[in-house]
Amino acid sequence: MYVKGVGPARAAMLEAKGLRVVEDLLTYAPFRYEDRTNVKPIRDLAPGEMATVLAEVQSAKTTGMPRRKVGLFQVRFTDATGGLLTGKWFHGGYLSDVFAPGQRVSLFGKVEFDSYTGHLAMMHPEYEILSSVDDEGDASLHTGRIVPIYEAAGKVNTRALRTLTNRILASIAPITEDPLPSGIRTMLKLPDLWTALQELHRPGPNADLRLLNAFRSPAQFRLIFEEFFWLECGLELKRTKARQQPGIAFALTERVRERIKEMLPFRPTGAQKKVLGEIARDMAEPHPMYRLLQGDVGSGKTLVAMEAAIIAIENGYQVAVLAPTEILATQHYFSFKRQLGKLGYVVILMTGSCTAREKLQLRRLAAAGLAHVIVGTHALLEPDVEFHKLGLAIVDEQHRFGVEQRQALMEKGAHPDVLVMTATPIPRTLALTIYGDLDVSVIDEMPPGRKPIVTEHVTEDRVEQVWSSVKKQIQAGRQAYVVYPVIEESETQAMKAALKMYEHLSKIVFPLVPVGLLHGKLPAADKEAAMEKFSKGETKILVATTVIEVGVDVPNATVMVVEQAERFGLAQLHQLRGRVGRGGEQSYCILVTGKLSDAGRERIRTLVKSNDGFEIAETDLRLRGPGEFFGTRQSGVPALRVANILRDTDVLEVARGQAQSFIRQPSSDVELRRVVGYIRDHWQRRYGLVLVG
Ligand code: ADP
Ligand code: MG
Repeated sequence: MYVKGVGPARAAMLEAKGLRVVEDLLTYAPFRYEDRTNVKPIRDLAPGEMATVLAEVQSAKTTGMPRRKVGLFQVRFTDATGGLLTGKWFHGGYLSDVFAPGQRVSLFGKVEFDSYTGHLAMMHPEYEILSSVDDEGDASLHTGRIVPIYEAAGKVNTRALRTLTNRILASIAPITEDPLPSGIRTMLKLPDLWTALQELHRPGPNADLRLLNAFRSPAQFRLIFEEFFWLECGLELKRTKARQQPGIAFALTERVRERIKEMLPFRPTGAQKKVLGEIARDMAEPHPMYRLLQGDVGSGKTLVAMEAAIIAIENGYQVAVLAPTEILATQHYFSFKRQLGKLGYVVILMTGSCTAREKLQLRRLAAAGLAHVIVGTHALLEPDVEFHKLGLAIVDEQHRFGVEQRQALMEKGAHPDVLVMTATPIPRTLALTIYGDLDVSVIDEMPPGRKPIVTEHVTEDRVEQVWSSVKKQIQAGRQAYVVYPVIEESETQAMKAALKMYEHLSKIVFPLVPVGLLHGKLPAADKEAAMEKFSKGETKILVATTVIEVGVDVPNATVMVVEQAERFGLAQLHQLRGRVGRGGEQSYCILVTGKLSDAGRERIRTLVKSNDGFEIAETDLRLRGPGEFFGTRQSGVPALRVANILRDTDVLEVARGQAQSFIRQPSSDVELRRVVGYIRDHWQRRYGLVLVG
């Protein structure tokens, strides 16, 4: 990027924020606007008003506990009128490096009367240091108007960003071509691109501050809409293209129906029937299915997946089941074998811990078409794993897999149908964007007879009380999990903690009760054995690290004790809790914590209050933001710049509708071609991940 005022150092800081080209800077939206039209000399200020003051630092000091930088930081300001104004910041010690006597600053805030000093004061005013030689351009940019506030990019502060964007807007030729289809612009009364950019970075004197700060000025609306519109157009194009590919038209014969009936261990819920109907309809189409199956933990997704598997197998095809962890793959292997084995289908398990000889053997079975269902972890994706005739790929826990991995699996067959299952309920808005290229089926009903899990919060010092309730449940014939936190990198440490607790529980607290141990470092065979024993009720308590987070299914287990629950995320705790409450008995989840941070307390409170995965996911998303929520870059959360998925749901819905009808019925072929080209040139970079799959 070449812009006056951007040297290599600044360019690097901007780039770290994803601001590489001029276009990036122009769409770097202010997160707030301030009305600085009211600029006054200190002497004319009145308590109670919001005002901007241009002043000079006279002195600065910290009172309270200066060395720990936690005290009250006070700066005395003065101006040419001779007035005095104190700026006060609690815990403002860090500001001692910012303010120096003689500096000129602009302050914005609410004026108060400080009875202690008898002067006027501002508590935590917004401030900007005005350079002595004003190398950042015109001071009138920064005061005396509605001023945009940007999030700093490294040391490039809001003031510098304001100057930069203004310099760019003033120096480039007005953008006369508007990429948005004009029909849509007219219909929605959207301002053109150039006007919108101007208004975004330098709102005029008549701009509505309230609208601006609600991100709903016409300019902001347009830019938000536009971001979603291109994204949704891209997704819709991809979706249309995918659905035009030739695929397998599975026949839904009487025999298929009968075999499904034969397999079913219980009567499916209405929701399960509904989603199977959707899946079966897709499978019967001569095009590939791309469907997301969403449902809360324990809602019975696996059963639906097995029904879909039967459709494929009875049509002479193989089924691949891809799971993110070995434990979950193993669990799926057991349940598929249990239900489908009785129909005479061959189910095999392929994971990283198979020996080379086993792998070879398993690969032969898959390649020869002798295995009907191939369950596995990433090991399934290795290039030398071949299928005889892959017809259906089931991917569990999608958010842990990248789009590329889904693709890798699909390429092992000739356009197989794809069913993605996720146990993390994703709020609708996010599902629309992340999985925008998938059709969505939702299981919104729990199997009958479930009692809501009772969740309790207990502090560490009262853990004895927890063990006595566990004892009661075991005496009543139930089973319990005791789980230890594991942060991925420190499985060893968690293992040690689990091991210690295992010793403590099995020798001291429950000497007469068989206790099992399950952690990630165990050899695969031992893991299987530990799960098997617990499944059969031979062990009554299973001490585990979070390896059991997903997939384990023991309906007789009614207690889930989570140690150091404050160290888990909301979604993870909800997943863990979903391991109980799978039978008809009342189940309990006990969250044991040490001292809680505010965020930790909020998480625990949310869980105690709610059993609803969707509600919990919404809260989680709000607490952490979309990037963190999904944890990985590969998750496909698009890099939105002006738009915010949480805040702008309404705009997203509008954009999605417009994008779909535009792609399905473009006003002309020329227009469609132009739009496709535009997305490729301008948006691929940003949404790259979403569009490659
Ligand atoms: P999910 O994968 O959605 O978390 P599972 O498929 O593991 O849920 O099902 C959770 C539990 O509910 C399992 O024990 C399963 O056997 C049981 N289950 C599933 N469907 C039904 C049903 N229709 N009626 C009774 N129990 C069911
Ligand atoms: Mg499951």
